[in-house]
Amino acid sequence: MTELLPCPFCSDPPSTKRWDVGHKKAMRIWCDDCSVNSCVQGVDEIAIEKWNTRPIEEHLRAEVDRLTKERDEARKECRDYRNRLVAHLYCIQRINSIPTEYHLPWENKTDE
Ligand SMILES: [Zn+2]
Repeated sequence: MTELLPCPFCSDPPSTKRWDVGHKKAMRIWCDDCSVNSCVQGVDEIAIEKWNTRPIEEHLRAEVDRLTKERDEARKECRDYRNRLVAHLYCIQRINSIPTEYHLPWENKTDE
């Protein structure tokens, strides 16, 4: 049997009941806590599929996955930018620590 998803509203495990209707099997799936229910008479798999099909939830999960990926890429970009900035600052610090006589001619300031 396919595993049933928890209740989409309270995440409690659902309750089930099976019974015979003539030569068919009927199945009812519901949540004891918040009374959300799905009742299908027929093959068990149909009731399970209906209980487990959640287009809005699946859409939101896909959106969360997309946004998580976008966030991770942005974090990597920020980290790379920070590393480049630190390297530039290190270079500036090194240049400023070089004695004036070693500066390139266009860097020498004259007060004249
Ligand atoms: Zn519930």
